[in-house]
Amino acid sequence: MISKNAVSKFGDLKTPFYYYDLNVLKSNLDTLKKESQNSGYKVHYAVKANANPRILKIISSYGFGADCVSWNEIDSALKAGFDPSKVVFAGVGKSDYEIKNAINAGIYCFNVESIPELEVIEQFASELNKTVQIALRINPLVEAHTHKYITTGVEESKFGIHTWELENVLKALTAMKHIILIGIHFHIGSQITRMAVFQSLCTHINELQDWFANRNVDLKVVNVGGGLGIDYKNPDKAPVFAEYFNLMHEFIDLKPGQELHLEPGRSVVGQCGSLISKVLYIKKGSNTIFAIIDAGMTDLIRPALYQAHHKIENLTSKGSIYKYDVVGPICESSDTFARYIELPETHRGDIIAIRSAGAYGEAMASRYNLRDLPGTVFSDEL
Ligand SMILES: *Cc1c(COP(=O)(O)O)cnc(C)c1O
Repeated sequence: MISKNAVSKFGDLKTPFYYYDLNVLKSNLDTLKKESQNSGYKVHYAVKANANPRILKIISSYGFGADCVSWNEIDSALKAGFDPSKVVFAGVGKSDYEIKNAINAGIYCFNVESIPELEVIEQFASELNKTVQIALRINPLVEAHTHKYITTGVEESKFGIHTWELENVLKALTAMKHIILIGIHFHIGSQITRMAVFQSLCTHINELQDWFANRNVDLKVVNVGGGLGIDYKNPDKAPVFAEYFNLMHEFIDLKPGQELHLEPGRSVVGQCGSLISKVLYIKKGSNTIFAIIDAGMTDLIRPALYQAHHKIENLTSKGSIYKYDVVGPICESSDTFARYIELPETHRGDIIAIRSAGAYGEAMASRYNLRDLPGTVFSDEL
């Protein structure tokens, strides 16, 4: 719920903006910290979900690590107080300067996705006279049952190393003197809501663990990536961290001394953010009514990019219910937040909240149509 106090202040603010409810964020982080302490599993927050400096600062203050996919993310994480010894660097296309900077920053681990990438890291580590820890990102061929654009663990995915290539990877590694293999890494997709998917991932990981053990390769870290989904239909519902941690505990067979690492992104920040917008015009279509709002796909691209559902609320009207298509001002037909949804009778000037927008919202905003980037407002500023 967005508080009455907050709603009463929204009218005076320049829209659109992201409203972050810090109580929701902190309550999530408290749960996550408790689960992490109880289980001993280590959490690296996936910065790409939301890299707002203030949010990063709050997350780092809990002592979590950071999972980054670019040098700029690493830089932002370090500036926000994350310890370099708790920073991991993932991504299928790390560029030369990103690798060199990350080596110099002394990050914990590179999650590596191919033999050519290993060769480049070995070369730069050797030139810089450093030793680098890496984990192999393996594609375990688990179908995540989520939107195809956010599925990453299938045969045709560009991500990860295929299991049929692992033998060659180990061979290549024996010649690399500046690289230490410390673990295996997985990330099979995002917005995963079927717990059975994670269970199946655990089964694959256990098999792979045996594969490495049979070759006398010691792995200190098993990193299961992120992917835990949130309930977009119920924006006030907290993510199911306890269920997720319990599942890992039940189904992953860790070897003695092994650490389990998790990289949640969406589930940490998704529910704390709402995109707040004003209605510009109500326009009759031939078989629908358009509510044209001042937020567009440049502010929140998920509906246009992934056909994602976000709950939409009119915060200022209590009229009778009508059906609306809620659309933005951008010159693209895909700039549609929802079709044929029920809202109380909506007028120019009404304030609209697009809920559950804390993850992959502000972080994916663009300046297409030369629009301004959305603003940000935190609950403790009102
Ligand atoms: C995006 C990403 C995550 C976070 O995924 P969520 O679905 O937001 O939890 C974790 N690890 C890696 C490697 C990623 O690319």
